[in-house]
Amino acid sequence: MTGLQITPGVNAPIGIFGGTFDPVHHGHLRLAQELAETLRMAEVKFIPGGTPPHRAQPQVSSLQRLEMVRLATAGNPLFTVDDREVRRSGPGYTIDTLIELRNEVGASRPLCMFMGADAFLELATWHRWRELFSLAHLIVAHRPGFAPESWPQRMPQPLAREYESRLLHQPFAVHLSPAGGIVTQAIAALDISASMIRESLARNVSPRYLLPDPVLDYIESNNLYLCNTGGQ
Ligand code: ATP
Repeated sequence: MTGLQITPGVNAPIGIFGGTFDPVHHGHLRLAQELAETLRMAEVKFIPGGTPPHRAQPQVSSLQRLEMVRLATAGNPLFTVDDREVRRSGPGYTIDTLIELRNEVGASRPLCMFMGADAFLELATWHRWRELFSLAHLIVAHRPGFAPESWPQRMPQPLAREYESRLLHQPFAVHLSPAGGIVTQAIAALDISASMIRESLARNVSPRYLLPDPVLDYIESNNLYLCNTGGQ
């Protein structure tokens, strides 16, 4: 990344990382760390989802997922945890969270929504998805199993059109406007998923080293994920 010189300052972008985090794992943490450092974010807000509109109900409570995110991010000065979606009743739509955040940070502060490639390819199924671009930039991290070469075949037409028109070839351009661009970023390829961890636990196989030890300790002491009920 050369060309555009950026001095991080009071208006540096804020990273927003939403997810079910059922449970949070090292794939999530590396994504947040690398995107934050590479793109010089002021901070990354982890926002565990409440009732997810797009997927089967998680097996553990929202508060337990929130607590695991707190344990996983503790001690990292770049990371903060935002519990607004867990506290919200009813379906948790990303658009509502972004509207609130935009009101809080003001019109000019860049907001950058982080997601993995699998989530990006599903974006056109999200509630009011096109409006997300008026509120934030989208930073799409590569994920094993979702190679960028395969995206054109996997992207629905409406999403492909937005992608082509919004793609920023200079990633630091997210510092220069509050919202509206798409950046794609290679990160350490960690083929870890929350479902893999849930399946291990249900089979009584340790997922140790796929997620932080304090999160695994919490899972074990609360007897979480002992059976695989088929949640995604
Ligand atoms: P599940 O296996 O239950 O579907 P998950 O591991 O994909 O869960 P989520 O909480 O659904 O985790 O993901 C939150 C965000 O993190 C999504 O944008 C997803 O694309 C991204 N993500 C999760 N794991 C990785 C990974 N290993 N590499 C890159 N991105 C990831």
